[in-house]
Amino acid sequence: LVSRKRQTEDTVVQVGEEAVGNGSSTVIAGPCSVESEEQVRQVAHALKQQGVRLLRGGAFKPRTSPYDFQGLGEEGLKILRKVADETGLKVVSEIVNPADMELAEQYVDVIQIGARNMQNFELLKAAGSTRTPVLLKRGMSATVEEFLFAAEYIVSRGNTQVMLCERGIRTYEKWTRNTLDISAVPLIKQESHLPVFVDVTHSTGRRDIQLPVAKAALAAGADGIMLEVHPNPAVALSDSNQQIDIEQFNKFMQEMRRAGFLN
Ligand code: PEP
Ligand code: MN
Repeated sequence: LVSRKRQTEDTVVQVGEEAVGNGSSTVIAGPCSVESEEQVRQVAHALKQQGVRLLRGGAFKPRTSPYDFQGLGEEGLKILRKVADETGLKVVSEIVNPADMELAEQYVDVIQIGARNMQNFELLKAAGSTRTPVLLKRGMSATVEEFLFAAEYIVSRGNTQVMLCERGIRTYEKWTRNTLDISAVPLIKQESHLPVFVDVTHSTGRRDIQLPVAKAALAAGADGIMLEVHPNPAVALSDSNQQIDIEQFNKFMQEMRRAGFLN
């Protein structure tokens, strides 16, 4: 169902006023984790000013260590919803438990399925049974074929509103957190009609190369980019080394527009 052989025209996923995959580039931005209402509000206002419509933020955080901040849970979803409604933005947030899909439908506009859960088949089926758009991230050790089969799980349950996100894969390289598989972008665009994003934050794990990587992603045919923005990354409860602050975000957006990658 996700193949170009079944559907030649691009799937456009409508999220509020944002038509993802219609030829214009979409930006999803926001903090790694929802930490407080004030934190989310500061980022939301920055997004609004830059014309970004999709606000991301993790309420359920799949952390490598059980001793790290696990997210605010439902409280985090409430904060996202409240701030997004105040500012006219739409919410993208990760769900990690199939039992939380009802919660998701109540608070979020896009259900994110994270890299670690790309092959959590019960979660994929549960997301497929909702009619909320899904942003599915590529597993860090998943092939492109496995990635598309994961999307197939969701679409085959009747939820056709699926967006894919390349977020880097595990390699021996240590100077980046993951290795961005840029070739996955044109490959997926060729094989599938679903929109494709590139997460420039988790793929690189560092701030200094996000701009050229974002340009490369859009030049390679991505329908959008995702990046993490925090009012004060130094004190962030997760991914403190890779989130950019609001000033850096403004510069990033300005340069993307100047170079003709965004409107
Ligand atoms: C995220 O985007 O919040 C995240 C945890 O990323 P990933 O699942 O790609 O590691
Ligand atoms: Mn993160």
